[in-house]
Amino acid sequence: MLKKELLDILACPRCKGPVELDGEHNAIICRTCRLFFEIRDDIPIMLIDEAKPLAET
Ligand SMILES: [Zn+2]
Repeated sequence: MLKKELLDILACPRCKGPVELDGEHNAIICRTCRLFFEIRDDIPIMLIDEAKPLAET
């Protein structure tokens, strides 16, 4: 699981805004852009090209 300190320094690559940890899906999400960034091997993939649209739930 990612540490909160790491989350604090992460920003969305698109809007440069704050992101949230989605512990349930082990991902980083930007609610502004509605993007979903995978975490692989404990490393968040903060790339627009790798981002997926946030599912409507
Ligand atoms: Zn964003």
